Amino acid sequence: MLHIQESVLEINFKALQHNFEFIKSQTKTGTKILAVVKAFGYGSDAVEVAKFLQDELNVDYFAVAYIREGAYLRAAGITTPILVLHPQIVNLKHAINYNLEPSLYNDRIFNAFAHEAAKQGKKDYPVHIKFNTGLNRLGFFHTDVDHITKKLKTLSQLKAVSIFSHIAASEDLNEKEFTKNQIQTFKEISASFEKAMQYKPMLHMVNTSGIFNYPEAHFDMVRTGIGLYGFGNDPKFDKKLQPIASLKSVISQIHRIEKGESVGYNRAFVADDYKTTATIPIGHADGISRQFGNGVGAVVINGKLAPIIGNVCMDMMMVDVTNIRCNEGDEVIIFGEGQSAEELASKINTISYELLTAVSQRVKRVFLR
Ligand SMILES: *Cc1c(COP(=O)(O)O)cnc(C)c1O
Repeated sequence: MLHIQESVLEINFKALQHNFEFIKSQTKTGTKILAVVKAFGYGSDAVEVAKFLQDELNVDYFAVAYIREGAYLRAAGITTPILVLHPQIVNLKHAINYNLEPSLYNDRIFNAFAHEAAKQGKKDYPVHIKFNTGLNRLGFFHTDVDHITKKLKTLSQLKAVSIFSHIAASEDLNEKEFTKNQIQTFKEISASFEKAMQYKPMLHMVNTSGIFNYPEAHFDMVRTGIGLYGFGNDPKFDKKLQPIASLKSVISQIHRIEKGESVGYNRAFVADDYKTTATIPIGHADGISRQFGNGVGAVVINGKLAPIIGNVCMDMMMVDVTNIRCNEGDEVIIFGEGQSAEELASKINTISYELLTAVSQRVKRVFLR
C-alpha cells in the first residue's frame, strides 16, 4: 500500500490486464482488439496505459478522438496503428507526419485528406471509412457507398483498410430492435463495399457494451474503452471487471464547529449542532463537480462515508467527519475501494465516463505495476 500524502490518481496495471483479458475472452479467437485511449485514457494516463497495452498485452490497434492525442502517443514511442475517430481538417498534415490513420466520415474530410495524402506523395495510405447506421453523429450514409467506392478506386494515395460504424444504444437492451437494425444496415453496407472494391476491408462496429451484448456484431475487430478501465455499463459486467483508477487524497486539516457556525463559501453549510469537519485538498479544478456539494456526494474515510458539506471550492472541499474517527494526514478515497466511480457519478445523474475523464491533469498519477 502506498502512503497517500496528496491528491493522486492511482492506476492499477494488474486490473488493466485483467480487464483486457476478460474482454478478449468474450471474443472469438482472431478477433482484433482496438483499445480506445482518447481523453487521456479516460482520464487515467494515455501514454502509460497505451505502452502497457502495446508492450505487455499486444493490443492490435489504438483509437483516439483527435489528431493531437495521436501525435502525443507517437511522440511517447507508441508504434501500434492509431485510428483517429474525429479528425479535423486543420490538422490533417500532422496526421500523416505522425503516421495516424484518420476516420473519413464525410466528403469534406475525405476530399481534404485525399488532397493532403497526394500532396505528400503517399501511396495506399491507410484510412477508415465511417458509416452512420443510426447514431446520427458522424459518418457517410448507406446510400453513399456507391460514390465513395468509385472515388476510392481512382485514388491511389488512399487505401480503405477498414469500414466501421457505431451503435447508438449498445448498453440498452430495450433498444435491441433498433440495434439489430443498425447491425443489418452495416452488413449491407459492407457487402456492397466489398463487392465494389473487390477486397475485404476490416469491419468493426461494437464498443464495450456491444462486445458484451451483441457477439454477432464483433466482425473483425472490437473497440473497447470503458471496459478496459473497469466499467461495463451494467452491474452484471461491472462485477467481471476491475476499475483501474482510484482517486485518493488526504485530510489537510480538521475543524471543530459550534452550532450556528458556517463552513465554506457563501456560508452554504450552517451547523445545526456541534460538528467535526475535514478539509481535503481536491476541488472542482481537479474534477470534483460543484454539483457534489451540499451533501450530494461523499468520500470514504477509514471505511466510512463522509458527506461533502457546503460548496466544493476550486482547490479543496470540506466533509463531515463528526461520526468518523480520523486524524489530519489520514487517507481519503474519493472513488476506489468503498465507493466506485460509477456509484459516485450516479449521485449527480451522470456516468462513470464523465467522472473519470474529468479528473484534471493537476492530479498526480501514480502507477501500481
Ligand atoms: C469512445 C468510442 C468507443 C469506446 O466506447 P466504450 O463505450 O468506452 O467502449 C468506441 N467507438 C467509438 C466510435 C467511440 O467514439
